[in-house]
Amino acid sequence: MVRLPFRDSFYELRPSKIIALAKNYAEHAREMESDVPERPVFFLKPPSALIGPGEPIILPRMSKRVDHEVELAVIIGKRAKKIPREKAMGYVLGYTILLDITARDLQAEAREKGLPWALAKGFNTFAPVGPRIADGRELNIADLEIGLKVNGGLRQLGRTSEMIFKVPELIEYVSSVMTLEPGDIIATGTPAGVGPLRHGDRVEAWIEGIGRVEFEVLAEGSILC
Ligand code: MG
Repeated sequence: MVRLPFRDSFYELRPSKIIALAKNYAEHAREMESDVPERPVFFLKPPSALIGPGEPIILPRMSKRVDHEVELAVIIGKRAKKIPREKAMGYVLGYTILLDITARDLQAEAREKGLPWALAKGFNTFAPVGPRIADGRELNIADLEIGLKVNGGLRQLGRTSEMIFKVPELIEYVSSVMTLEPGDIIATGTPAGVGPLRHGDRVEAWIEGIGRVEFEVLAEGSILC
């Protein structure tokens, strides 16, 4: 469970699921040598992957290449089942930043062998969030700067306007498949510039109107973890 500042208090984030979009920015699809999808493509990350500000991202021993992906995350505010896009925004509590941390070597192996992505996307600490939840009623997410630095060097920079499938469409599509519960998270995909993380790195991510959040990166076994 992660607590993030929300309005004048805190919100305890206990999602029943984290839905994450693949290839929702055309430039990122290109850098992954993938086609731009005709329909949204999504996968699940386990809620056990969540961490908040102050907790480190742990690089698992099983992977030799772990990447950052900065994403705008939608927090669902009320139960949503088969919601048309015109009504979708009424089901949003707010927004935060989510890093869709990915074991790229394990993902490449899964893609090659036609296996699921649960392993590559599901390790503990692979869903850092923060720094706060911005109120859905106050933030217009149509065109916000989104970016990420590692050790002060710019890696990712984009705008939410570059999303192929926009938030209302994503809520319509996902809620036509699975009921969204309060606290559920939809990570809306990453802009281009994904790259590796190493032990000792400091990752800084931001989205205009939400804020900035930092995480330390540690190798598994380097501390008591
Ligand atoms: Mg992603």
